[in-house]
Amino acid sequence: MSTTAIKDLYQQVIVDHSKRPRNCRRLEGADRQVEGYNPLCGDKITLYLKLDNGIVKDISFEGSGCAISTASASLLTESLKGKSLADAEALFESFHRLVTGLEPSHEAPKLGKLAVFSGVCDYPTRVKCATLAWHTLRAAIRGDEERVSTE
Ligand code: ZN
Repeated sequence: MSTTAIKDLYQQVIVDHSKRPRNCRRLEGADRQVEGYNPLCGDKITLYLKLDNGIVKDISFEGSGCAISTASASLLTESLKGKSLADAEALFESFHRLVTGLEPSHEAPKLGKLAVFSGVCDYPTRVKCATLAWHTLRAAIRGDEERVSTE
């Protein structure tokens, strides 16, 4: 595929997940619940996690925000179900390097569908939208905060 075709495909996935977000619901009996806020754009998210022996048994989110932040939260929940917390931390690192443009071509293969956010590194103001759910996830994994802000 040409670079333009790949970009179009990535764009379609983001639009699809922003319009029909997956796992977008409150999770009853969640072990962890963390709120994230990106004041730059006004994105808000609440992330719910259910854990079983260090494995993400279930994960969901609720929130209101721009297309990028919603699609990112949706794809995050899809990617993390069934993963260990160590895998989740590793994905956070890879995703962060991808969207900040550090090693996009190196990280993309490890990220699967999450690679659709590789174009975000060209738009610095959108990086916080794309990473909000991930910062919230990390706080939920570490269990050290109930609220995170990108600022
Ligand atoms: Zn946003």
